[in-house]
Amino acid sequence: MPEVDSHQAELIEAGRILFARPIEFMLSVVRMETLPPPDLPEICFAGRSNVGKSSLINSLTNRKDLARASNTPGRTRELNYFNLDNRLHIVDLPGYGYARAPKTEIAIWTKLTRDFLRGRAPLRRIFLLVDSRHGLKESDLEIMSMLDEVAVTYQIVLTKIDKIKPPEVQKVLERSQAAIAKRPAAYPNIISTSSVKKTGLDMLKAEIASLALPDVRL
Ligand code: GDP
Repeated sequence: MPEVDSHQAELIEAGRILFARPIEFMLSVVRMETLPPPDLPEICFAGRSNVGKSSLINSLTNRKDLARASNTPGRTRELNYFNLDNRLHIVDLPGYGYARAPKTEIAIWTKLTRDFLRGRAPLRRIFLLVDSRHGLKESDLEIMSMLDEVAVTYQIVLTKIDKIKPPEVQKVLERSQAAIAKRPAAYPNIISTSSVKKTGLDMLKAEIASLALPDVRL
């Protein structure tokens, strides 16, 4: 279908342009009261700790250390806000399931992220990162159930696909697809990525561009 192809090509181009624009770190949020004004659409990246979240954000934005690993000491309970070209806020949620985090830390994380995910009006979509070697884990399913309840759309992004063979990627894709089939807030397309090989980044950028404010300069 040529129309679909040209629409897709346009979105990919829009994504490429968006991520070539300036991105700035804005602030780290540790309490709901200090969230920035809800003046731009927002997307957020969530996932288990070590899923490859900071690598993916850095690859998307072509920066080496814009996002830092969620298991960096002291960074386990902050929501990090980035401003992409005054058209979108990107929120890096703290990684969950980090075994070595103290219990009180986990409790604070859970409360903050739940409050955020439930009540943040400009939030357009959660990109839920899943390690392609492991597939969906119990902690992912818990977040998904909560998002289904509060009707916030989430899209699964498989990470590190360079680490497994293509038939295995296919298998984890199919399993994940089956797991979201009946979930009301799940976005149906799953994106497979590798930050190391830069695979799938154009598709992810295209999705994100479709959620940002339009580019007035184009
Ligand atoms: P975070 O805790 O989710 O922010 O995870 P990181 O981005 O720090 O990544 C965790 C580990 O996985 C690091 O050792 C990364 O080098 C590695 N990693 C991240 N993305 C990829 C990828 O696409 N391919 C491979 N092979 N390794 C990756």
